[in-house]
Formats: sequence, structure tokens, C-alpha cells
Amino acid sequence: MSELRLGDLVDDFCVKCRRVTNHATVSLLNGVAAKVRCYTCYHEHDFRHGEPPPKKDSKKESLFKQVLSSIDPTAVAGEDAGAASAQSGETKKSKSPSKST
Ligand SMILES: [Zn+2]
Repeated sequence: MSELRLGDLVDDFCVKCRRVTNHATVSLLNGVAAKVRCYTCYHEHDFRHGEPPPKKDSKKESLFKQVLSSIDPTAVAGEDAGAASAQSGETKKSKSPSKST
């Protein structure tokens, strides 16, 4: 029962589906799944014990921040100018208190 056999269903993390999906065991090593195939997308990969792959987005993230910072100043400046002009153009309405005497 505990012995895993080829074709057995195992849960594992699929990088293509980006989540844990059903996998079929296609390769065994010492009674443990070595290679599995995703039931959803049929992507074959090493068995990773349901662990998602380590993130390597640090480069992407820094690039993204760079782009953001290059965009941000103009966006903020434009918004600021618009808000300023709107504020100066706005006239305050003085409420006339209606008191019944
Ligand atoms: Zn998949």
C-alpha cells in the first residue's frame, strides 16, 4: 500500500499550472517518485514533493521598480498640478445658517 508504483497518482506542484495538481508517476527512484506528469497540462518534471520552486523574481522586481520610479514622477506631477488648479478654482460656499426666531 505504501509502495508507490508507476502511474500512481501523486500530488505535486506544477510550474505550468502554478499550483498543486494531480500527477502521474512516470519514474521511480528508491520507491519514491522521481519524475511525474501533470494530469492537467501533461507537463513532465522532477517530483518536487509539492514544493513550489524558489522565487527568482528579484531581478524582475528591481526592474519593475525602476520602470515604476521612472513613470511615477511625471504621473505625480501631472496629478499634482491638476489638483492644485482645481483647488484654487474652487470657491468655498458659505453656509447661511437658517435660524428660526
Ligand atoms: Zn500542470
